[in-house]
Amino acid sequence: MSVYLNGRFLPLGEAKVSVLDRGFLFGDGVYEVVPVYSNKPFRLDDHLRRLQRSLDGIRLANPHTIAEWRERILQLIALQDFADQSVYVQVTRGTPGEGQPPRDHVFPQATPPTVFLFAQPLVTATPAQKAAGVCAVSAVDNRWLRGDIKAISLLANVLLRQRAIDADCAETVMLRDGFLTEGSASNIFVVKDGVLRTPPASNLMLTGITHDVVLELAAAHGIPHEVRAIPEAEVRAADELWMTSSTREILAIVKLDGVPVGAGAPGPLARRMDALYQTFKQEVMRA
Ligand code: PMP
Repeated sequence: MSVYLNGRFLPLGEAKVSVLDRGFLFGDGVYEVVPVYSNKPFRLDDHLRRLQRSLDGIRLANPHTIAEWRERILQLIALQDFADQSVYVQVTRGTPGEGQPPRDHVFPQATPPTVFLFAQPLVTATPAQKAAGVCAVSAVDNRWLRGDIKAISLLANVLLRQRAIDADCAETVMLRDGFLTEGSASNIFVVKDGVLRTPPASNLMLTGITHDVVLELAAAHGIPHEVRAIPEAEVRAADELWMTSSTREILAIVKLDGVPVGAGAPGPLARRMDALYQTFKQEVMRA
């Protein structure tokens, strides 16, 4: 497998980073995951814009222009022998050079960032998961207050996601101060009486590219939708609950904390939105 590291494409086994890299020591970096269908990246510019916002959020200069990122990502995609990919993009604050403290919280001087890209086969929800839906658990959102930054320091998300896996579920739905924020690795939508709802963008959550596409599709197809704060009671009383992400796409949550959501099966709006999303994806990819 070919990966990209700091200006070079090379086999995975030859890609080496210093143990003093700030990504390794501090989790000091940001990332993106771009879905690729039939060798075409989906919504790449949106991902690159979000990468810029994450870099701004951690005060790290973007090492590349949009055109340079595009070129590197397209080259990486072309080097893989599978067509549907999940491209991972990571930028860390790099490895402090000679004469600088090897480990110090303070930003190092004149240190080039570490840029790492790799692709893996895209694993979307299985047909069985789509047909039956998945279960989720809820938890208090105990992450830091900058969920809008796609930071590589994901310890809280890792622990939260594992709670779902330990309960044989797919996702953990997070609540902060009695309101829905997002999933441990997804955004969450609630449907009640035919109205689609999701919380507004804020520092407390990552605004997903998929989340934005879903809202665009809702607007384009006249599906009533509201972007507003969602109290826990509305999550628990939902007719439908969905998780969305670049890799999961739109996936119905049919049980929350062991309690059926609505009828306990993927609802009509989830099925409709999934169909709209699949059609939209195909149209974009053909263009
Ligand atoms: N929130 C979090 C915490 C995530 O990790 C993800 C997945 N990257 C999302 C939301 C969904 O974002 P996207 O639709 O861009 O994949």
